[in-house]
Amino acid sequence: MMTADFAARRQAVLARIRAAEQRFQRPLESVALLAVSKTQPAAAVAAMAAVGQTKFGENYLQEALAKMTELATLDLEWHFIGPVQANKTRSIAEHFAWVHSVDRLKIAERLSAQRPARLPPLNVCLQVNLDRETTKHGLGETEVVAVAPAVAALPRLRLRGLMTIPAPVATFAAQRQPLARLRDLQERLVVAGLALDTLSMGMSDDLEAAVAEGATLVRIGTALFGPRV
Ligand SMILES: *Cc1c(COP(=O)(O)O)cnc(C)c1O
Repeated sequence: MMTADFAARRQAVLARIRAAEQRFQRPLESVALLAVSKTQPAAAVAAMAAVGQTKFGENYLQEALAKMTELATLDLEWHFIGPVQANKTRSIAEHFAWVHSVDRLKIAERLSAQRPARLPPLNVCLQVNLDRETTKHGLGETEVVAVAPAVAALPRLRLRGLMTIPAPVATFAAQRQPLARLRDLQERLVVAGLALDTLSMGMSDDLEAAVAEGATLVRIGTALFGPRV
């Protein structure tokens, strides 16, 4: 893609977000855009950064580290959104600003213990598995209620909220259902005393449903970069 194409695609995605905010009575600019750059080359990240994008999401550690090295002169905010293996936590804690995919207390404890003192606390979301049959990663709803206070108490983490990857469904109404459950779960945790401000939900195909149900950050790959390679 040429620079103009990156700008146009980003503007189109931002226009979808702003239109959904308006349609569903969300405050203007209350939904942030995370550009999911997995499988995209560093040049594509640089091009998207050049048209104003700062938050990038990556799923695979080695691929992400290579891009960070190549793009070290740019001031980018990197979010880890893929499955977290225990033997990768140190490198994730050293290189990312956010981890959206914390799905076990043990992983959270390792990330907290390994977060370098020179960096601010690592922002984390708990990944919630709302339909256990179709996806394998994530905490069940009752597990989240049990684990969240323990994660929030870890010294070098800042628990920001919840994240989910729902199973693909055909209609807008069906898309909204699991996302509404994530919002309800978040509200329960807030009532229980946790200071959460982030609902990480919504991808290229369910962005509008996610904004309708209270997403504060949507994770968009295909609609920004085109099909993955
Ligand atoms: C790949 C990925 C996305 C982006 O999906 P698109 O449908 O390409 O927008 C969002 N979140 C996670 C966790 C992903 O792995």
